[in-house]
Amino acid sequence: MSSSDPIESLAEMRHEFGEHGGVNMSIEASTTFTVMRAETMPEIFRGRLGPEQGGCFLYGRHFNPTVYVLGRQLAALEGTEAAYCSGSGMSAIACTIMQLCGHGDHVVASDTLYGGSFALLNEFLPAKAGLDVTFVHMTDFDAIEAAFTERTRVLYVESMSNPTLVVADIPRLAEIAHKHNAQLVVDNTFCPLVISPARLGADVVVHSLTKFVNGASDIIAGAVCGSNELITSMMDLHTGALMLLGPTMDPQIAYAISLRLPHLGIRMQEHSRRAQAFAERLEEMKVPVTYPGLPSHPQHALLEKIGNAEFGCGGLLGVDMGTTERAYKLMETLQNKDRFGFMAVSLGYFETLMSCSGSSTSSELPSEAQARAGISPGFVRLSIGYTGSLEQRWSQFLDALKVVDVV
Ligand code: PLP
Repeated sequence: MSSSDPIESLAEMRHEFGEHGGVNMSIEASTTFTVMRAETMPEIFRGRLGPEQGGCFLYGRHFNPTVYVLGRQLAALEGTEAAYCSGSGMSAIACTIMQLCGHGDHVVASDTLYGGSFALLNEFLPAKAGLDVTFVHMTDFDAIEAAFTERTRVLYVESMSNPTLVVADIPRLAEIAHKHNAQLVVDNTFCPLVISPARLGADVVVHSLTKFVNGASDIIAGAVCGSNELITSMMDLHTGALMLLGPTMDPQIAYAISLRLPHLGIRMQEHSRRAQAFAERLEEMKVPVTYPGLPSHPQHALLEKIGNAEFGCGGLLGVDMGTTERAYKLMETLQNKDRFGFMAVSLGYFETLMSCSGSSTSSELPSEAQARAGISPGFVRLSIGYTGSLEQRWSQFLDALKVVDVV
């Protein structure tokens, strides 16, 4: 890859043509692929002649040409050697951890993660795969160091934590992980383009493509971005988690997502611009607001240092309404009275999405874990959309704040 700029790398990558010279990639819908000589088949099965060696395609659950091109576009975006896609963000995360860890191995994980990732690490993988996991706050570097054992294979964090928006110090975490011969795996779902974890030292970047990358809340998908060695190992016919657990992405989906990558940068800029404006106005009105673009945010300076400034500070912000009841009232007013956005989980949609994290996407964390992570019962996560005008949306927000007696 010639450029360290994510947008330039992606643009270079897209200058490959479809099968017939089309400006978009072709969709290869076949689930099975022929060879001209019978001896080629066993060579592919031995891992000697597959597409990763420039050879032949085999079967749709193994590499598919269209999904492979989307993977290469995501690798260009994230600055990794390779990437491959899967049917969901959760499958990308689960397969990555299972690929890097064996039975009895240890993971040091952030104590503030998307509820599904937390449940995977706290309950599912320990029970089903004998994994040992220690959860630590990602800004407590002494505790992180102390958590490593001889068996630690992975340090797992979110670049910006769901939902508390704590920014991970990726260069420092990479240094700690590497000192202990472990790999730093970063979920960059909240921050595509805003943060480039692999360019900052992370070994693996995982994504829920369901969110900002897709942008239209109509596709569930995921991706793993990492070294050639990792991606090839995940497709190994005997030991590859993506190959054997089978969370295959459909080529039609890969094609649909590839058409949304060229405008991801413009979308992220507008999500960030709106979130920044709302956060500044809310702070001025003394509403308890969390947004890493505010100088009052504990990792504001860090994000300025490690982030890609042209994309702003991301499209998510949090407001603390004090109690669950007031959080619900705010969201109901915003949706049903003011038409400001939707009360729905997920994020990265062109409309604003709002959810009360403690009783929805973080409810897998027991209440003590929520308290430790700083998720209060009245915390409302907003994924700020870009429909309507900023001023129209702000007046709707002001109206709802009045209804709940905040102003
Ligand atoms: N990672 C983060 C940070 C998320 O917020 C989510 C879902 O909300 C996921 C991963 C899981 O993604 P998916 O729903 O695509 O499986």
